Amino acid sequence: MKSRTKVVVIGGGIAGCSTLFHLTREGWSDVVLVERNELTSGTTWHSAAQVTNFGVNQTMVGLKTHSIRLYKELAEDPEYPINYHHGDGGIRLANTDAQMQGYRHFASMARGMDVEFEVIDAEECARRHPLVSTSNLLGGLWDPLDGDIDPAQLCQALAYHARKAGAQIYRNTPVTELTQHRDDTWTVHTEHGNIDCDIVVNAGGYRVNEVGAMMDVHHPVASMEHQYFLTEDIAEIVQAGHRMPLLRCPISDYYCRQEKNGLLIGFYEQGCKTWGMDGIDPNFVNALCPDDLDRITDVLQGAFDRMPALLETGIRSVINGPITYTIDGAPLVGQIPGKRNAFCIIGLRAGLGEGGGHGWLLAQQIVHGEACYDTWCLDPRRFTGHTNVELTSLKAIEDYQNEFRFHFPHEHRPAGRPAKTTPLTPVMAAEGAEFTVVNGWERVDYIKPRADFHPSLTFNFDEAFEVVGREIENVRNNVGLCEVNGFNRFEITGADRHAFLDRLVCGTVSKREGRVGLAYLLNHQGRIKSEATIANLPQSDRGPARIWYGSAAASELHDMDWLTQHLRKDEDVQVRSLTNEQTILVLAGPNARKVLSACARGDWSNHAFPWLSVRECFIGHSPATVMSVSFSGELAYEIHVPNSSLYAAYLAVRKAGEPFGLSLFGARAVEAMRMEKGFFHWKADLLTEFDPYETGLDRFVKMSKSDFVGKAALQDLINRGPVRKMVTLKLDTAHAPAHGGASLMLDNTVVGTVTSGDWGHRVGLNLAYAFVEPELSTPGTTMLLDLCGDRIEATVIQPSPYDPDHMRMRG
Ligand SMILES: Cc1cc2nc3c(=O)[nH]c(=O)nc-3n(C[C@H](O)[C@H](O)[C@H](O)COP(=O)(O)OP(=O)(O)OC[C@H]3O[C@@H](n4cnc5c(N)ncnc54)[C@H](O)[C@@H]3O)c2cc1C
Repeated sequence: MKSRTKVVVIGGGIAGCSTLFHLTREGWSDVVLVERNELTSGTTWHSAAQVTNFGVNQTMVGLKTHSIRLYKELAEDPEYPINYHHGDGGIRLANTDAQMQGYRHFASMARGMDVEFEVIDAEECARRHPLVSTSNLLGGLWDPLDGDIDPAQLCQALAYHARKAGAQIYRNTPVTELTQHRDDTWTVHTEHGNIDCDIVVNAGGYRVNEVGAMMDVHHPVASMEHQYFLTEDIAEIVQAGHRMPLLRCPISDYYCRQEKNGLLIGFYEQGCKTWGMDGIDPNFVNALCPDDLDRITDVLQGAFDRMPALLETGIRSVINGPITYTIDGAPLVGQIPGKRNAFCIIGLRAGLGEGGGHGWLLAQQIVHGEACYDTWCLDPRRFTGHTNVELTSLKAIEDYQNEFRFHFPHEHRPAGRPAKTTPLTPVMAAEGAEFTVVNGWERVDYIKPRADFHPSLTFNFDEAFEVVGREIENVRNNVGLCEVNGFNRFEITGADRHAFLDRLVCGTVSKREGRVGLAYLLNHQGRIKSEATIANLPQSDRGPARIWYGSAAASELHDMDWLTQHLRKDEDVQVRSLTNEQTILVLAGPNARKVLSACARGDWSNHAFPWLSVRECFIGHSPATVMSVSFSGELAYEIHVPNSSLYAAYLAVRKAGEPFGLSLFGARAVEAMRMEKGFFHWKADLLTEFDPYETGLDRFVKMSKSDFVGKAALQDLINRGPVRKMVTLKLDTAHAPAHGGASLMLDNTVVGTVTSGDWGHRVGLNLAYAFVEPELSTPGTTMLLDLCGDRIEATVIQPSPYDPDHMRMRG
């Protein structure tokens, strides 16, 4: 066995084999995989191994497309051919208009990734799948490339090609311990000796947390028992003369595909079970859980109703095995939070279909630091703090119970809520708040007009439209108050704090005490990594001179990694997170200054405290830090308050606001208002796929600076010219917003992709942001938006249609 290598991948299922293979494809051949038993002896060997192109965002579609292309290439390789039923086709069924509308959105989104889905009616479903009855069926989404693959052969083929390229695989070699050294390298201890390496990868499948424990990490991954059975031959299949398409059914929670001349049918029963919560038998190898068909009787009937031929068909065998789930249903592929040189590819619940793509994206991250797509939807750092075992299992159960039911816009399912709250959460609930969830935080979405107000799940504007409009009207005419909890906040101290940030930020950062600025951090590819509000606080009785670095709610672990990775050993800089200690009360509207003056001593005039200022003060008797910044486009103040005095500060602001018409507003109003101002959201509009010029952030870049992270790469991108440009669009419809991922078309060709959309209540326009081909970015240009199957005229307009000179927010 090698005693030193570059990367050790732990686990030889599809996740590990794909990672190893793709590391060699990225040019790293000094790489090793260690497997405690035989390859595929975890979950992979008994997988139903369906391979679909369907995904709920473009990254998922793109990675699945990669899997399909790769598997086809491997299947056709004469040197090591494998069994892959490529292109049997598959149907996701639907029995509601809302589901059908969702499918039309996903078809629009996939088209931007060169994937053509088709939305078909019930009769067409039955024509393509002769066993299907049309009763209680509206139609479905057709994925022409759906199929299935032999999972063991696939992994063996990946291993074969990786070995050929120089990788080593050690089977029957359990990893027993991991040691990280001061220089961030690792020693992987195995039963057959140690391997020193630069980088470790956890691909441990359902043993993910045994491997995690070896590096003091608990991953938010839980296993569920999952069953399918194989039927005897079915006459209609024998006679059909073609393979049956796959089915996935959100109506009755099952999937099925052809297996020999019968069917393989898998179930997602409501009475489901977690597995291995109290530890896993070390001898559970190539093993299954006991059959438990009683558990699936509720969903079985639905399958019988849909395919009556099943009533006449016997069961040949049953498979029940563990399958891993995460908090939000998507896997964890990328850097392990808080660790250096440690990656994971875990929580795969559709690992055969996705595994080719996940290994591809992970290998790119390991070798280049970033992948070709923005991988935030997979990033293990997208969850912060709150993701313990109990919450993970609750969300895993909920996700399993809803396997094929996609989330609608604004849908947040109830399991594990509330997870993160502030002292104001019950107060807001008593005010009638509807909550949205942001990184586990319960955040006010809007104030309900009555207790039994429950808007529909839809891709159209829902019944909250007018409610949100009224909140915005009051912000525009009087003043509104909004609690923004969970916003990421770091305190950066030390003599070198300005020089440190200056190195990371691509523009100018004000060093003046009492001033605030917006800054962008680029990755080493010259594209957008992070967005931060930088506030310079002077020394006071609350602490030394310091910078407050504020960024998006979910960015805490991501940004902390990025900042601390770039700290030099000889620099006097300390970074500490205040994210869970401080909450923001946003006061916005023309009367905001009057309200602030009524509850906080001091001169808050525009002269004494202009736009982009920061100051420490008291709100009533609560210590607070106030910044004059605005996301709504109105005169606004962010009042940062420690959670311990948040309620007191809130009472003081509310009382002060009474004479000025103060009322509450929520996240939906914020979202709509920022669309009118040309302000962006991190990871919706600000992506690692685009540079700041493509994103329209030219004014935040200073190429004349001597250096900053990503500068050389950005220069190359500038020389090459933009691939896409961010534009603001107005849409010629009032019934639905544009949804992230939707395609913009010209002459039936995709020319752009929407990142955000919402109604601009103050300008009376349906607005969207989109990345489009550069020659289409001039105001006045028109194209067609595929909005859930409808072609809607979309016209490029000037950014920030509401108060473009920002006069209102300057006060
Ligand atoms: C019944 C069922 C049906 C499914 N159907 C589908 C489907 O149709 N389509 C689809 O895409 N997915 C399906 N899945 C899911 C899919 O099978 C899994 O997502 C995938 O197999 C997970 O692969 P993995 O590599 O992450 O885990 P595993 O296959 O479990 O591999 C992990 C490996 O790590 C090794 N390991 C663990 N600890 C150590 C250690 N300390 N040292 C060394 N090695 C270690 C294990 O021995 C194991 O071989 C199904 C799953 C089940 C249970």
